[in-house]
Amino acid sequence: MITKEDLLGSKPLIIAGPCAVESREGILAIARSLKELGANALRTQLWKPRSEPGSFQGVGEAGLEWLLEVKAETGLPIATEVVAESQIEILKGVADILWVGARNMQNFELLKVLGKDDRPVILKRGFIATLGEWMSAAKYIGKERVIMCERGIRSGSDAMRFTLDLNAALVMRHDYKMPVIVDPSHTAGRRDMVPHLALAAIAAGLDGIVVEVHNEPEKALTDAKQQIDLVQFQELMEKVRRASTLFFS
Ligand code: PEP
Ligand code: MN
Repeated sequence: MITKEDLLGSKPLIIAGPCAVESREGILAIARSLKELGANALRTQLWKPRSEPGSFQGVGEAGLEWLLEVKAETGLPIATEVVAESQIEILKGVADILWVGARNMQNFELLKVLGKDDRPVILKRGFIATLGEWMSAAKYIGKERVIMCERGIRSGSDAMRFTLDLNAALVMRHDYKMPVIVDPSHTAGRRDMVPHLALAAIAAGLDGIVVEVHNEPEKALTDAKQQIDLVQFQELMEKVRRASTLFFS
């Protein structure tokens, strides 16, 4: 079993992977490459909360076996989102790290059930949540097991999906004393900005990043505009390594 402390032992912690599991071959191919390129854990989703009911909803339970194969072959811990209480149990033995999406940050019933689990939990900040609300949500789960994730807030700009709130991430880190990682993918909504925001998080001395990577981003069934490809991830990893020698002491 991987603990929060194990994860934070990687300085910085790099969690990477496709927005969603799309096929057995796809997830295996991506995970193999990510392992080789130095990712510390794989992120992906089986169930996709989507605004449109007609759009791809994720492969669901069909993907459990594929994730077990990925784990057995690469040894990468698996991080995945839970959108319903029942999934916490279903993911036993498959997911090593659970995460709560921005839209569920204040789903208190879900948080309470997560409080009874023993796996590390990544808690994404709701996009209009205050720092106090974010911290209270972490306490529902049990803050000892939680890694906070800043993923952008709503602001006045319509040129991008969200605005990365680095100030808030730093206050959470320094005043609330919680580990904080940044999701540059969902905050940007476009792949050209992803490396810049990721490196800003490293330069700020935060604990790591969770970034969307796909082997063929243009063909991705979800978030095609923001997923970076494996070559871009490799380049990002090189820069992250260089930056972390400067900013991690
Ligand atoms: C995700 O990480 O795949 C995701 C949907 O992010 P968020 O909940 O931050 O929008
Ligand atoms: Mn996504």
